[in-house]
Parts: sequence; C-alpha cells; structure tokens
Amino acid sequence: MTKNDNPYRNLPAVTDVLQVPSVVALEPAHAHDVVVEAIRAELADVRAGLAQGRNGTCTPESIAASIEKRLHHDMKPRLRSVINATGIVLHTNLGRAPIAEEAAKAAYDAAHGYLNLELDLETGKRSSRQNPIRGWVCRLIGAESATVVNNNAAATVIALRTLAQGREVIVSRGQLIEIGGSFRIPDIMSVSGATLREVGTTNITRLSDYEKAITPQTAALMQIHTSNYRIAGFTESVTTAELVALAKKHQLPVIDDIGSGAMLDFNRFGFTGEPIARDSIAAGADLVLFSGDKLLGGPQAGILAGTRACVERIEKDPLMRAFRCDKMTLAALEATLRIYMNEDNALRDIPVLRLLGLPLDELKKRASALAKRLRTIETLTSVESLEDIAYVGGGSLPDQQMKTWIVEVKPRDCSDADFAQRLRLGTPAVMGRVRDGKVVFDVRTILPHQTDDLVEAVRRASTS
Ligand SMILES: *Cc1c(COP(=O)(O)O)cnc(C)c1O
Repeated sequence: MTKNDNPYRNLPAVTDVLQVPSVVALEPAHAHDVVVEAIRAELADVRAGLAQGRNGTCTPESIAASIEKRLHHDMKPRLRSVINATGIVLHTNLGRAPIAEEAAKAAYDAAHGYLNLELDLETGKRSSRQNPIRGWVCRLIGAESATVVNNNAAATVIALRTLAQGREVIVSRGQLIEIGGSFRIPDIMSVSGATLREVGTTNITRLSDYEKAITPQTAALMQIHTSNYRIAGFTESVTTAELVALAKKHQLPVIDDIGSGAMLDFNRFGFTGEPIARDSIAAGADLVLFSGDKLLGGPQAGILAGTRACVERIEKDPLMRAFRCDKMTLAALEATLRIYMNEDNALRDIPVLRLLGLPLDELKKRASALAKRLRTIETLTSVESLEDIAYVGGGSLPDQQMKTWIVEVKPRDCSDADFAQRLRLGTPAVMGRVRDGKVVFDVRTILPHQTDDLVEAVRRASTS
C-alpha cells in the first residue's frame, strides 16, 4: 500500500486545519485550545468513519467547514429556557416555580452589583443576612422568628440536628414520606443524628400513640405533611393543636414540616387539605418548615419559622454556614414575600398563583387561539383544542385534578416521540406531553408572551 492509498495518512494535520482562513476567523470568539479540541474531535470522527469503511476525500478545508458547526453546537449553554407546555405548574425537572418579575429583577440587581447583604445601613455595622427575610416571614405568618436555608430538605436536617441530635423524634407511620431524590424521612433522620421513633400505623395514629412513646429520650414531636400522597378511607390522625397540647404537657417542641409553603388558602383554587404556615404557627408549633419554590412561588429555599429560642439555636449550628442562601436567592425571596403583604398583589404577580387561578373559560379561549394558529402549519395533520385534566406537580396536591384546556397535534412526517424530541432540542426548547401518537400542549403553563415562539418552534420541529 502506497502512502496515498492509506486514507489514514491522508488526514490533514491539526496545524493545517488551523491555517484555513475560516478557522483563523473563529479564534477571536473561541479560545485557541477550544478550536484545537474541536479539530481533534472532528478528525477522530473522520477516522472512526474510515474504520467503518466509509471513504471520501478529506482536506483541511472540508474539516474546517465542519468545525464552525461543531463549535456552535459544543458551546451552546446546557441550561436553556424551556416553554413549559406540560400544564404542570410546579414541574421539578423544569425548575419548579417561575418567580415573579419583581423577584427576578431583585435577583438580577443583587447578582451584578453590591448590596447590604450583611450590613446594617443605619449603623454601618455588620448584620445578619437573615434579618430581612426574618422580618417579612414574621409579619406574614405571625411567627416570633424565622431563618432560611437552601431548601426544605436542608431545613429538616438542621432542625432535627439542632433540636434532637442523639435523642428521639416521634413521627406517625402515616407520615414517613419520600419526596424523591432520596429525601426519605428515615434517612434524613439518621443524617441529622436523631433517632426516628415511629408510632401508630399507616392509616391510624392517635394522640395516645404519641403519648405512650414519650420517654426521657424524646427530643421532639414531628408532624410531616403527606404532600405527595394521601391516605384515604379508614383513617385517623392528630391535629397540630392536639399534638402541640401533648408536647407542651411534656415540655417538648413540635416540628411541623408543612412542605409546600402555602401562604393563603388554596380552597380558592379548588384544592383542599393544604396546610398554611400561619395556621401552624397559630396552632402553636415551635418550628414550621416549608419550601420557597413550591406553592409559595418563590426561589428555591427552605424556611424555618417559629419561636425565637428554636431559631437562635438553629442559627448557631455550624451547618448553618454550609446551608445558607446566596444573595440572589435572598433578594428574590424578599421580593416574593413583600408581594404577599397584599393578597391581591400576590394573586396577580406570583406566577404560580396566577397560573393556578386562570379561569377555565380563559384557558379555553387561549387553547382555541393557539389551535387556530397551529392549523396554519401544513406539516401537522390534526390540531384540536379540548378540555383535559392536569396536576399541580412538584409533589404538591397529588390527588387533586385540575381542569384545563389543551391543544393536541399530530405531526405528518414523523412519530410523536421524534416530534417531541425535536421540540425539546429546538430553541427555545418546548416540553409537551406525548399521548396516543399526538403531542399535547397545555395552555395553562404557556406564558402569553411565549405563544409566537411556540408556534414557530412547532413549525420548525414538524418541518425539519
Ligand atoms: C418538598 C418537601 C420537602 C423537601 O423540600 P425541598 O425544598 O424540595 O428540599 C420536605 N418535606 C415535605 C413535606 C415536602 O413536601
């Protein structure tokens, strides 16, 4: 075999490709190393192709032509905006709660400038980053004090560690939840150094079950909201007030993990059984724990509210330094909580509340309007708007269906799964539901300003 017959030898050298003008032109935008890495990767692909028996001429220019496309693809951000057409308002894989405009602005300002994160502007002295949030939470839910960590899982760990390390915490067997992502109460309990003392049965736990389990080893009674499942049928459980009365008799604290952080009554949206932070404080819980990015509709955070004594102990724990929130989160959370000072503003400006409160006839109107626009796309064989059901998601209100309106489309030239994938890979990415050969767009979670982008994304994905 002569040199020219061996295709591997004919592959251009990296330095040759680097000299092609179109590659030289890439360098101001891309670091030299990144361009070299792309050329090497391209050459490796060509070599792999040759090994599989593919042939074809390969010149510095032909390699160069592929480099720009490859770099464009390789350098795309991996985190991208997604149009949420699933109808799931709190979609954990899509970042749970979209936050209020004002909250997003506050995070932006905090991020790219300086702020008095740990500075008292009046005295010029150092202060705690917890003070602003503490102030708003106390006013909103009537607690004596409050503090905030990265998420409710962290809140649970630090609460149990501070109040119960080396001792026992009594929990009903009906409330031993797994939230997902390995958040299981028994595991959290052992990580915190507390010992779980289970009482009652899955469906029935009485006050006497708690009372019988109290020993000198007991450090706290804990109540956990079964946020992502319901026990129905022959059931009995204890109210927060009853648990508090029992705990007071034995001078024990009550920890109440209410989960979703509802700040107002969700019956207004047709949802029942969702505990409200204020009610738990009013019932006398020593510590109430909840997420910032579920039904509260703010940034990811875990809020601990309750007695001054409990909160002070928690803030002294060394883990507090590891669990504390950053300035963007604190700024966004403060802005969110300020909106809640006026319930009408909250219903209008907190996206989660606004989306859950959309009237059915408004959703119907939006679905018809979207369907009308999608019918202009020739590569869709059917476009239909119809009523459907959806769920809140994010481990909230699991058994409670919500009526909604959807647009169901069927692509002409590809399968439903292919179409859904093309939609996900487009810019912006679109996430719908796939069902019976069709892709479903639920209009509840499609923000009004996204409609044009959605229509174009569907056109591209069904045509390509
Ligand atoms: C969601 C949830 C958690 C975990 O909260 P994150 O903010 O996701 O860490 C803990 N407890 C309950 C009851 C929950 O619903």
